[in-house]
Amino acid sequence: MGTYAVTGSASGMGAAVVDRLRSDGHTVLTVDIKDADVVADLSTPTGRGAAAREVLERCEGRLDGAVLAAGIGPAPGADRPQLILEVNFLGVVDLLEAWRPALAAAGNAKVVVFSSNSTTTVPLIARATTDAIIDRDMEKALRRIRLLGAKMAPSFAYGASKIAVSHWVRRHAVTREWAGAGIRLNAIAPGAILTPLLQQQLATPAEAKRIKAFPVPIGGFGDPDHLARWVTFMLSDAADFLCGSIIFVDGGSDAWFRASDW
Ligand code: NAD
Repeated sequence: MGTYAVTGSASGMGAAVVDRLRSDGHTVLTVDIKDADVVADLSTPTGRGAAAREVLERCEGRLDGAVLAAGIGPAPGADRPQLILEVNFLGVVDLLEAWRPALAAAGNAKVVVFSSNSTTTVPLIARATTDAIIDRDMEKALRRIRLLGAKMAPSFAYGASKIAVSHWVRRHAVTREWAGAGIRLNAIAPGAILTPLLQQQLATPAEAKRIKAFPVPIGGFGDPDHLARWVTFMLSDAADFLCGSIIFVDGGSDAWFRASDW
């Protein structure tokens, strides 16, 4: 049985992953802004530093895996774009950089980062924007996002945060520090999954209309526990040869938008 760190553990898909791992007999260290072993606000450098340290202390320097599910959606608000970049990008990469030695210590660790099918379905996000996020130049990224229009800025920030984190995963997965240390670093890209994050978006009539009009060939919304099953598979021995992949589980939307574009 292994020891896993799971962020975003208090709700939705993170909570479903925790339930599955614990029922399989694993030890899970949960991280969230509420109701967790490690309570920390991943939108601040202090919170991210405390979360990283506390998990390392509790796991005694060895992690068999990590699931980075903490994230916030594109709700309205002038501060929202910055918050999205902090939680959805830095809340993943700051923790993973700190935990990398503990993951390497396990010899065959698996990491699953929550991306999104917004990476391929939200238009107009330039490479310069996502590269600025990866370079931690958030001011530049936010300036570029706001050029696309204040009203849609949270949606563009959300898509940009998920593209940036996916590029970060693929760039790092194949390096000596990650693959070379036996760490399998991958991401899952869900479509619309019925969790509190999606329910918050559905509560706004204009957003609900947009979400319901979005092409999902299979139809309907995804189930959080189905996604948790994909994640636990990606953490299992069956995923030993999976490295740097972004796994889309989205009812077919990504294929619908870019059937031949890959
Ligand atoms: P959710 O809202 O149910 O859960 C997100 C969790 O993150 C919550 O427990 C919340 O407390 C935590 N969190 C938010 N801000 C935090 C902060 N500052 N510090 C610490 N914890 C914080 O959402 P979900 O739908 O289960 O989303 C999980 C992941 O999947 C997210 O990264 C989300 O972007 C991604 N995703 C969701 C969907 C969807 O349709 N639900 C689709 C694609 C991707």
